[in-house]
Amino acid sequence: MILPVRAYGDQVLRKKCESVPVDYANLKELIDNMFETMYAASGVGLAAPQIGLAIRLFVVDIRAFAEDEEDEEVKAEFEDFKRVFINAEKIEETGELWKFNEGCLSIPGVREDVLRHETLTLRYLDENFAEKTEVFSGLAARVIQHEYDHIEGVLFTDYLSPFKKRLIKKKLNNVKIGNVDVDYKMRFPK
Ligand code: ZN
Repeated sequence: MILPVRAYGDQVLRKKCESVPVDYANLKELIDNMFETMYAASGVGLAAPQIGLAIRLFVVDIRAFAEDEEDEEVKAEFEDFKRVFINAEKIEETGELWKFNEGCLSIPGVREDVLRHETLTLRYLDENFAEKTEVFSGLAARVIQHEYDHIEGVLFTDYLSPFKKRLIKKKLNNVKIGNVDVDYKMRFPK
């Protein structure tokens, strides 16, 4: 089932999310719905608050990135990179800061360069509640860092300079009131 994506301005996007208990009702169905919602919006990641649930859960599918990847090793990593992250905790971020033009399904029409660390070490549970500690880098780290921020109530626009924030203020206000052109289902706070 495709769920409406919560738009910028919705309070749920600002919550520090709660852990997911192992007996969380209908978790598998929820995960399936999140993937379906993400694919319908052509996204590569989706976090639970974006569909209105303040829980530490996000999904990522970056298999589409494999196509353009020249490094064979990275390409192979991307080719089966469809993951579920439950109760993720950041262990550390290392490496150089690099810039990437980010967007967010909750903030349609806004794309801005964001600096993030190259490498991320994350501890999380997969969809079977098996604990994993893994190191991600490059684009995989980038998408996970963005989704991880969502479960902490952080949005990519928070990283912009005061100047950039002023420039996009009108756009953000338009998102809040639903004055945006999107081809996927959304729910606006006002
Ligand atoms: Zn996002």
